[in-house]
Amino acid sequence: MTKAANLFRSIFGAEADGVWAAPGRVNLIGEHTDYNDGLVLPFALAQRTEVAIRLRTDGVIRMSSALAPNNVVGIPVKELAPGWPAGWGAYVAGVPWALEGDVGFDAAIDSSVPVGAGLSSSAALICAVGLGINDLLSLGYSRRELARRTRRTENEYVGAPTGGMDQIAALLCIEGHALLYDVREDTTEQVPFDPSDAGLKVLVVDTQVRHGHVDGEYAKRRADCEQAAEQLGVPTLRDVAYSDLDAALNHLDNERLVKRVRHVVTENQRVRDTAAALASDDWVGVGELLTAAHASIRDDFEASCTELDVAVAMLMESGALGARMTGGGFGGAAIALVPHAEADEAAHTVRAVFADNGFVPPTIFSVVPSAGATRIK
Ligand code: ADP
Ligand code: MG
Repeated sequence: MTKAANLFRSIFGAEADGVWAAPGRVNLIGEHTDYNDGLVLPFALAQRTEVAIRLRTDGVIRMSSALAPNNVVGIPVKELAPGWPAGWGAYVAGVPWALEGDVGFDAAIDSSVPVGAGLSSSAALICAVGLGINDLLSLGYSRRELARRTRRTENEYVGAPTGGMDQIAALLCIEGHALLYDVREDTTEQVPFDPSDAGLKVLVVDTQVRHGHVDGEYAKRRADCEQAAEQLGVPTLRDVAYSDLDAALNHLDNERLVKRVRHVVTENQRVRDTAAALASDDWVGVGELLTAAHASIRDDFEASCTELDVAVAMLMESGALGARMTGGGFGGAAIALVPHAEADEAAHTVRAVFADNGFVPPTIFSVVPSAGATRIK
């Protein structure tokens, strides 16, 4: 019996029709590239969000989450409108809206994905509900179409201007692989990614930093990228080839835009290079690309923060092959590729240095490339 099914029974006093789960994800590399029509390389986590659902016949939605303080009751599905209800309920209510699945239901949610850490608890929640509604109503959407529609839940219903990576990762990832997603072409490729096979672990350091200014900074970076593309006369920064980077940079009229473009264009190339390095088992090469990506997002994209930089530096000093912040930045998590034998010591060092600096204690855990969303009951 899953925790979500138990929660469902205790809140709603009945058995759920089924239970679905969708994973959080780590983006191995390719940061702030998705909204520039570029390349990303996420993998799914074993940490996941479970939702137990039972359809109702009166067209009303009710929901409860072990992670959120208030149950949400009595939303008539006919009256769904973007932004309603405020808060976490929109991530659930926006799913039948985006799936055009005109039905009421009760939902109980339980999750092991850290919230707000850049590991995409939001898409895990949306996609678990999406797969459940798709199954229960026999809507027949493919996973691709579900990803498209659940992205609309986050963008248009919740109102978070995220790129397309999170839903794609939650729905299409498979165990032991990272997913190379080309946003412009809307194509995906499974890239074998099994660090344990090479005696390595992927460590995640959740700095616990959750800055209030994240949304504003994210919007500013997007605006910078749009402004730069306009100056360069291209639809998006994806259209700047790596081989044309120097010429493009000479066209820009200010240093800030030069830095933003340099990050996005070199980052797309690093994603390609990382996929190639993984394909040839070149783990040292993968590590170097991760570390280069961190320098780029810290110095050129200016989307890191002190805690993330300290975490990355300490992980590298502790023997990591490579380390970088992951997710939108300005807080959240860093990842590192660490030899198995060094992992405990590396975690210990990061904790000690955080304490010395007076930072909030980080949460540190290892992650394994895992399966995408699935029905579990
Ligand atoms: P991230 O996706 O990086 O974790 P976001 O800010 O995109 O961070 O999404 C976090 C939000 O998603 C939370 O504030 C909450 O509204 C919602 N959410 C995610 N997981 C859950 C959950 N298990 N229960 C309730 N709400 C959740
Ligand atoms: Mg999110």
